[in-house]
Amino acid sequence: MRIIRSPKIMSEALRRLRSKGKTIGFVPTMGALHEGHLSLIRRARKDTDIVVVSIFVNPRQFGPKEDFRHYPRPMRKDILLCRKERVDFIFHPSGTDIYPAGYRTFITVEGLDKVLCGKSRPGHFRGVATVVAKLFNIVAADIAYFGQKDAQQVIIIQRMVKDLNIPVKIKVMPIVRDKDGLALSSRNTYLSRQERQDALVIPKSLDLARAMIESGIKQADRVASLMRYQIKKNKTAKPDYIAIVDQKDLRPLDGSRIKKGALIALAIRIGNTRLIDNYIVR
Ligand code: AMP
Repeated sequence: MRIIRSPKIMSEALRRLRSKGKTIGFVPTMGALHEGHLSLIRRARKDTDIVVVSIFVNPRQFGPKEDFRHYPRPMRKDILLCRKERVDFIFHPSGTDIYPAGYRTFITVEGLDKVLCGKSRPGHFRGVATVVAKLFNIVAADIAYFGQKDAQQVIIIQRMVKDLNIPVKIKVMPIVRDKDGLALSSRNTYLSRQERQDALVIPKSLDLARAMIESGIKQADRVASLMRYQIKKNKTAKPDYIAIVDQKDLRPLDGSRIKKGALIALAIRIGNTRLIDNYIVR
């Protein structure tokens, strides 16, 4: 396994392999790897000849009051995990490798970037789209792997790839959860023991939504308000949003009935930690 910092060296190493007919699978991450990330890596390992994992905590997707400085960076552990999964390359650039002095180009995926997470995290998806486009150019993978956990990110990346004719296939993998249902997240490490317990209200509210829909309660407003009610019963949980939207364009379903393909997404603050989760109605 090689660990590469320079975008130029990364591109060249992969160009040589591509010219020998090797296929490339790419897993972009911010590190602090857990089983969610590993599920993407394992899928890439199955599908493609060369597996590239990027580890880059992208400053441009964090707001000024967010956790960029405190975001976990357990690099040694991440290297061991990647080695165990037989990753071929870790791409681990520095901030200035990606954004050298004079950097001025950004990508906005209009309309999709200001709703849900984009509302309370202005500029977040502009940072995400920009870094992912840059990584796609550097790695030039055949297939890139993303988790359904970040549902809005997936929709935005798929739109960007289509709109900009980026020659990569996007594969979306299911949400990996702890045994008790909490979606794995690098930010779960911020939670105290009590908060970790309180956070279970998130998957529970999604279970409640699923149960309501299966029992025939399909009015989007009604389902959302019952979820909100259940979450607010827990004193430490503060909803940022609870939304039921069309999965294709993130348009709110509000007064309409929930149909197949609806995305039920939520962001909840547990103490100082903001967690997201979602479920797609099948
Ligand atoms: P991050 O390091 O948080 O930027 O995540 C890197 C990739 O891993 C993204 O595509 C995430 O959606 C994905 N991911 C994070 N958590 C999970 C999870 N619990 N299950 C599946 N994929 C995940």
